[in-house]
Amino acid sequence: MNDAFDYVIAGAGTAGCVLANRLSADAGVSVALIEAGPPDDDPAIRVPAMVAKAIGNPRQSWGYSTVPQRHVDERVLPVPRGRVLGGCSSINGMVYFRGHPREYDEWRQPGWSYSDLLHYFARLENYEAAHTPQRYRGGPVNVIDIPNPNPLVGRFLAAADTLGLPRCADFNGGDPEGFGPRQAAIRGGRRESGVTAYLNPARHRSNLEITTDALVTRVMFEGRRATGVEIERGGVRRVVTARREVIVACGAYGSPQLLQLSGVGDAAALQALGIAPLLDLPAVGKNLHDHPAASIGARTANTESYGLSWRSAPRSVLVAAQYLLFRSGPLASNVFEANGFMRSRPEVDRPDLQIIFMPAHRNANGHWLPRGHGYGIIFVNLRPASRGSVTLTSKDPRDKPAIDFNFLSAPGDIDVLVRGFEVARSILAAPSFVPLAGRETSPGPEVRERAQIEAHIRQSLVTVHHPCGTCRIGDVVDTALRVRGIDALRVVDASIIPTVIAGNSNIPVNAVAERAADLLLGRRP
Ligand SMILES: Cc1cc2nc3c(=O)[nH]c(=O)nc-3n(C[C@H](O)[C@H](O)[C@H](O)COP(=O)(O)OP(=O)(O)OC[C@H]3O[C@@H](n4cnc5c(N)ncnc54)[C@H](O)[C@@H]3O)c2cc1C
Repeated sequence: MNDAFDYVIAGAGTAGCVLANRLSADAGVSVALIEAGPPDDDPAIRVPAMVAKAIGNPRQSWGYSTVPQRHVDERVLPVPRGRVLGGCSSINGMVYFRGHPREYDEWRQPGWSYSDLLHYFARLENYEAAHTPQRYRGGPVNVIDIPNPNPLVGRFLAAADTLGLPRCADFNGGDPEGFGPRQAAIRGGRRESGVTAYLNPARHRSNLEITTDALVTRVMFEGRRATGVEIERGGVRRVVTARREVIVACGAYGSPQLLQLSGVGDAAALQALGIAPLLDLPAVGKNLHDHPAASIGARTANTESYGLSWRSAPRSVLVAAQYLLFRSGPLASNVFEANGFMRSRPEVDRPDLQIIFMPAHRNANGHWLPRGHGYGIIFVNLRPASRGSVTLTSKDPRDKPAIDFNFLSAPGDIDVLVRGFEVARSILAAPSFVPLAGRETSPGPEVRERAQIEAHIRQSLVTVHHPCGTCRIGDVVDTALRVRGIDALRVVDASIIPTVIAGNSNIPVNAVAERAADLLLGRRP
């Protein structure tokens, strides 16, 4: 590896891959992309329906979990996070969603409104079925409508119709409210990740160097100017110099961790751990938030759902053959094929509740492949008010940070989930599901009173993996994503997002990184 580059990017996740491509497109600059994890060579990464297997592979995960969640029965929640080339884009659910336009406008940060970002949503997208003025072709990220969704999806949407819940034809077409099929980042039956969309087309460039299995241990400074990073690879530590800028793209947990390890954070807390503070910036690591969710599930003898059973074994053989021969069929789907965005109460001005349909049941033992048949609904609070933090547990960069979402600490957060539970149960009780003769197994029909429902929510609460806000614009970085008070250091990833987008976060992060690349190169959109 060379020792000096114009730009050094720490972290090759969603944002890092975008930046590596866009910056190195200028042959006049040199770029180093440094990733802690291995190359993305696990076959489960490629096959969309094997997403749960990819998430569960410890070789490509940080293995994080939360601190006990005070308002969630003191539970310690697992926090999957990609430690692999492509970061979370290599293990995520591939759901393609820009988010509600008003979410961006409410950040109230110049240059980051939805209309400012629309140019970047257009630049990144290749929607195979683009047919309206708001949708685009020609970008690096391929987007599809799942060609043959599971038959249960039709039952889910029919149930929503029965309940009078409106339809949404295109969740990325302007007003994402209502129920309908989701779109996915899939190309030719394979996952579209940051690697396939952005890195692979740029790998051949002589001005881009990609290094994997290298932990960035701290940012190096001269005074208050970032000059490079220290990395640890194969037990050896060395410094990589940045002639122009260091870009921290380590994600919502990794970026505040790296800043704090480098002396940028709450000075008193850093001193207590034996880290010499460079800049007292207490907001680093604060404002952590994510979407809390819970679920309801049913088992059935009907074999329409995704899953393995003796009765569906012949079909499973055909499904495997179909994928191997044609890269199509159920294995080319990301499984969660339909959802709804709705308001939990009439008074709220836009959707705050997501109702995600699961055409499969979950194994009690957590195995990625559903054994037997079933279906269920995950209901998500899209605009939680609870806020937590990411803090260091020691000055050793190899130690995991303390991740505290402080879920359900804001009193109203559980109300949205209770409403989600009620909607989910009504959907599964609708006439379209009756022929399946499903039996609710989680939580079970005996759970009816509000207190019981709340208890179920606390027992089954999970994150749906959209953490953000820990280096938010306004507090930690300015509107050009420069760390306040420090020269030549930017943060570009989900951590800069001040308020989580109501929906999935990969495409919002792509758009953030696309705009950041223009800011770095001094280009106007
Ligand atoms: C299980 C799961 C499912 C998801 N499903 C969806 C979905 O279906 N649709 C959607 O839109 N979003 C989804 N998301 C969210 C989405 O993938 C993330 O919001 C997005 O990838 C975040 O991008 P990022 O660049 O901020 O961080 P990341 O992609 O996490 O990238 C950070 C990178 O930095 C590396 N890194 C961290 N620290 C260091 C260090 N010290 N040195 C070197 N490298 C370091 C990490 O290994 C990682 O590769 C999901 C996320 C998860 C975890």
